Amino acid sequence: MNTSPRDEGVVKYHAVHRNDPAPTHPLLNKLDQARTQLFDLGLVGVYLDGVGYGNVSVRHEAGCIISGTSTGATRILGATGYCYVSNFDIVANIVCTEGPIQASSEAMTHCAIYQANSAINCVLHIHNPQLWRKLLDRNGPSTSKEVTYGTPQMAQEVAVIVQGLANPCGLLAMAGHEDGIAAFGPTIDLALNQIQAVLT
Ligand SMILES: [Zn+2]
Repeated sequence: MNTSPRDEGVVKYHAVHRNDPAPTHPLLNKLDQARTQLFDLGLVGVYLDGVGYGNVSVRHEAGCIISGTSTGATRILGATGYCYVSNFDIVANIVCTEGPIQASSEAMTHCAIYQANSAINCVLHIHNPQLWRKLLDRNGPSTSKEVTYGTPQMAQEVAVIVQGLANPCGLLAMAGHEDGIAAFGPTIDLALNQIQAVLT
């Protein structure tokens, strides 16, 4: 049971999971290295109450390859820390996954971004209170205060933000998900650059 006031880490979609070997993907190693960089910056990790935060993905076929649930305490995940999201349905609130671990609770949000903008190939979800506040104060792209993480409403709002963007690179703040930010880009490096640019 999740007792955190942050409302983090609990899967809110209906998960249909099949246990399978670890995903293989040419970009998986690079994605995991990017995640380790984020981990070292404290942007992916685990809160003092033990609840993990932050997750990373790359587009794959109809869905993506995403870091698994409850992996925030691990610095280097390796392939067994990831799974395929083979299919998803925002309206029905279903996410279908295959792999050695179940998907992050924010898998639906990642998939909605890929579905809404075909030029986006990487999504990095991080937590940082200062950066989150800065993005909201700047009135940058953000989801509504009333919308909490991992819900179909979150998926719908992020889709509206990224669809039709001329530049498929950016950051969006999740106003209703404390400290939550999504970086996205056409490549892993470009998504990571979005974060590094605002930290310096
Ligand atoms: Zn989050």
